Amino acid sequence: MSKNKRSIEAIIAPPPPHMVGDGFRVHSFFPGGGLIDKKRMSPFFLMDYGAKVDFSPSEHLRGVGVHPHRGFETVTIAYHGRIAHHDSAGNSGIIGEGDVQWMTAASGLLHKEYHEETFSKTGGLFQMVQLWVNLPAKYKMTPPKYQEVTHGMMGTYQLPGDKGVIEVVAGKYKNVKGPASTFTPMYVYNAKLKKGAKAELNFPSEYNTGLLVVEGNAVVNDESVATDHFVLFKNDGELINIEASDDAIILVLSGESIDEPIAQYGPFLMNTWKEVEEAIQDVNAGKFGVLED
Ligand code: MN
Repeated sequence: MSKNKRSIEAIIAPPPPHMVGDGFRVHSFFPGGGLIDKKRMSPFFLMDYGAKVDFSPSEHLRGVGVHPHRGFETVTIAYHGRIAHHDSAGNSGIIGEGDVQWMTAASGLLHKEYHEETFSKTGGLFQMVQLWVNLPAKYKMTPPKYQEVTHGMMGTYQLPGDKGVIEVVAGKYKNVKGPASTFTPMYVYNAKLKKGAKAELNFPSEYNTGLLVVEGNAVVNDESVATDHFVLFKNDGELINIEASDDAIILVLSGESIDEPIAQYGPFLMNTWKEVEEAIQDVNAGKFGVLED
C-alpha cells in the first residue's frame, strides 16, 4: 500500500511564557496552549518548552523544590545549560546539552529539579523541554524508574552527504533504535539538520504526531516553520518531509494514543478523580517517600 503525506493541522506560535519555580521559563504548548483536546497528542500529555534564555550567575540554585508526581513519566531534554534532579526513589542525575532524563513516576515519588551548581554559578544560555508522557491504567501504579539517556547513548542515523543526524531517543528511525524504554509505542527524535538537509519521517497515520523547531527554521511539508514553533499534524497520512532552511534542530514526537479517561490535577495524571484524591491522601500520608529540600 502506498504511503500518503500527512497534512499539517496547525502551526502553533509559542504561548506566553510562565515560570515553573524560579528556574524554568516555559511556553506550555499543551495541554491548553494551542491544543484544547487533552488527548490530542496522547501519549504525550504535556509539553513545556523553555526557549533560549540567559540566566545571570547565581549562588542560589534556581529551580523547582520538592513536589510529587504519580501516573506518568517526565521526560526532560536539555539543549543548553545543565539540569540536576533528585528523587525519593533514590535516583539523581545531571543532564547537559544533548542529554535526556526519562523519569517514570508511575506509582509515585517526590522529586526536585534545578539548575546544576556549576551552571548556576556561571550562568548562561538555558534551553530545555519537559514532556509528560502518560501511562496506561495498567502501568500507572508500577514502581518508579529512572533512565538517564546521555547524548552518547542515542541511536544516530547519519544523513547522506554529511548533512546532519537524526538522534533517536525512543523508537527507531529506519533501522536505528533509541535507548529509552517506553510503556507504549512512541518515537522521540532530535533531528539535527544542516542547512539544505532533507529528511523524511514515516509514522503510522493513527499515531499522534508533532514537532518543535528548537533551532533554526525549516520547511515542513512545504510550509515554513520558524524557530520555537510547534507543528501539529493531522492523522491522515504517514509521511513528513523536512528541509532545513538553515542549521536546525527539530524535536519530533509521535506515538500511539492511550484511549483512556484523563483526570489530571496538578502533578497527578490519573484516570479517575477518585484516584487523584487517593494520590493526594497518599502524599499526605508520606507514602511517596522522603526527600529533603
Ligand atoms: Mn516535576
